[in-house]
Amino acid sequence: MAISAENQQHEKASTEVSAGENKRWTLNDFDIGKPLGRGKFGHVYLAREKRSNHIVALKVLFKSQLQQSQVEHQLRREVEIQSHLRHPNILRLYGYFYDQKRVYLILEYAAKGELYKELQKCKYFSERRAATYVASLARALIYCHGKHVIHRDIKPENLLIGAQGELKIADFGWSVHTFNRRRTMCGTLDYLPPEMVESVEHDASVDIWSLGILCYEFLYGVPPFEAKEHSDTYRRIVQVDLKFPPKPIVSSAAKDLISQMLVKDSSERLPLHKLLEHPWIVQNAEPSGIYKY
Ligand code: AMP
Repeated sequence: MAISAENQQHEKASTEVSAGENKRWTLNDFDIGKPLGRGKFGHVYLAREKRSNHIVALKVLFKSQLQQSQVEHQLRREVEIQSHLRHPNILRLYGYFYDQKRVYLILEYAAKGELYKELQKCKYFSERRAATYVASLARALIYCHGKHVIHRDIKPENLLIGAQGELKIADFGWSVHTFNRRRTMCGTLDYLPPEMVESVEHDASVDIWSLGILCYEFLYGVPPFEAKEHSDTYRRIVQVDLKFPPKPIVSSAAKDLISQMLVKDSSERLPLHKLLEHPWIVQNAEPSGIYKY
């Protein structure tokens, strides 16, 4: 498949794929290409929508597995939320369809794959790269919060990279649409803020915390409260036991930003619009939001 040529047509084609919100898709609307990856509940394939020639990622989920793990409700919420979000740093969900055995999600194709793998490959990112990613995620989260959507599960595994090198939030499995303060346990421990570990009320500032953890992991290659035992991670989160190792060398401006995000009192965390004005972001982030590599 001529992916690069297709990507140049992205803007035009994406409007075509999403044209007619009420269109009922079927598998016959797509040519299926190579597998892109395997998730917990099914497979993801490169696919081409026949009418528009638009390249997408088709996620195929098995209903039996969704039922077994009792995540149908979560999937419904994820689809409902993600399909309404339009932001360059949020993976588009164009639509969905299903047959007797499977549910199919029509997703924007992220040509450069998983951020997690890039981080593993590089061990840690340069300050320029980390700042570019953190700024683009802050902009995406400002957009989400403006729509009363809290993501609640920001971590490297949930981020993909687009053809230009732009970051895309890809997984809204734990997100909520809310006007109230929430009290639900979710996500993996390393990225959870104190108020969620302790199951007290939380709000959109949980995403500021997770972005702070992510920023640390980008720069050091490991999350800040990592420990062998869950109970130790738990204790370190609750105590905000934040340490900056001597290697790799990280600027004091970056450490200052992280320290302002990883604050126990959620109302004292640096607001995302202020993050965008922080000297470390201003001096390091690519204004285009695109890190070329
Ligand atoms: P998931 O089920 O979402 O964990 O997806 C399984 C794997 O498929 C991921 O780890 C990615 O490598 C790949 N993948 C999922 N969605 C996309 C996408 N939209 N574009 C490119 N690759 C994807």
